Amino acid sequence: MHVTSMEVRRFRNIERAVLTPCEGMNILYGDNAHGKTNLLEGLWLATGGKSFRKAKDSELVGFGQKDAEVKVSFYAAGRGQQATLKVSTRRSATLNGVPLKSASKLMGVFCAVIFSPDHLSLIKDGPEERRRFLDAACCQLRPLFVPCLLQYTRMLSQRNALIKAVKKGEAVMDPILMDAFDERLAQSGEEVRRFRREYVETLTPFVASTYDGLSGGREAMTVRYETVGGEGDLYAALKGSRAADLRAGFTTVGPHRDDLEVFIGGNPARAFASQGQQRSAVLSLKLAEATLLANGYGEKPVILLDDVMSELDRSRQEYILNHIEGFQVFITCCEPTAVRELTGGKVFHMENGQLTG
Ligand code: ATP
Ligand code: MG
Repeated sequence: MHVTSMEVRRFRNIERAVLTPCEGMNILYGDNAHGKTNLLEGLWLATGGKSFRKAKDSELVGFGQKDAEVKVSFYAAGRGQQATLKVSTRRSATLNGVPLKSASKLMGVFCAVIFSPDHLSLIKDGPEERRRFLDAACCQLRPLFVPCLLQYTRMLSQRNALIKAVKKGEAVMDPILMDAFDERLAQSGEEVRRFRREYVETLTPFVASTYDGLSGGREAMTVRYETVGGEGDLYAALKGSRAADLRAGFTTVGPHRDDLEVFIGGNPARAFASQGQQRSAVLSLKLAEATLLANGYGEKPVILLDDVMSELDRSRQEYILNHIEGFQVFITCCEPTAVRELTGGKVFHMENGQLTG
């Protein structure tokens, strides 16, 4: 799939920008703080996802404005389509002129993969970021995962509320009621794990081969889904951890505690990876995600690369830019010369929220 044109209005520092990209590489360049990432963020909203910078919707609206608008025309499923979004305290969206119940219904219609420097936290930070990556990727690839994850999250917060109340002496823990509850929680938790595991299994070979290419075969990257509370049945784990959970004040086992472990050259990346290795690892995850989406939908997602080039040596830069051929790419940078030399592509300039080119 590819974007044929897009327009954003009153979106962060961009009063209005219209972009007609090419089907290959699109280079957005400009000095710091002029609105390059903002433009990518606007485009990203058409995937139906939350801001990749974890911004609240109200922060997306230009200062002093009531709402922001994004209109993305794209080619997908063999035809031209259009998604529009209006963002204020809440979001509303249309697809091909028809209002949607919620903006998240755009998931699986317009697909993109985003790399942003914020995603380095995928390697550097705790497991939460990696679960978020897995869940977001599963949501795009398998829309059926969305209700499944919601169900689990809802039931988990109910269990946590009950545990807190018991801890405070405001409720008693009825073992029979708890059995019934844990059984249902375990059921949906197992389902979440099944989706994630299956995803990681399919992702693994693509991650490995991308990282191999990026590092010129010098290091190997592997990933592994790690469950908390043992590999065995989740119901037994939940039941067995009730006393510990009561002490902790929350549910200590289950998919909400699992991790996607990342190793480079056999060592945990979180503790040992260099800057360039971290960046390469995140990129490998993201490009593998793009390949899986492409295989799953039979068409290639749009790839958004925010400030990807810094901290990568020339051979790694070259590998990325050549490896994503066949995808429509939007890439931001301060200096366009290197990217243009390596790829050709259409160049746009962003200055004070004004786009030209
Ligand atoms: P860099 O090269 O440093 O990454 P950039 O071009 O990607 O820069 P952006 O992050 O896109 O920069 O834009 C940042 C600018 O947008 C900041 O100056 C910020 O003050 C402004 N900005 C952010 N949110 C809003 C908003 N809601 N309304 C108006 N301006 C905003
Ligand atoms: Mg930026």
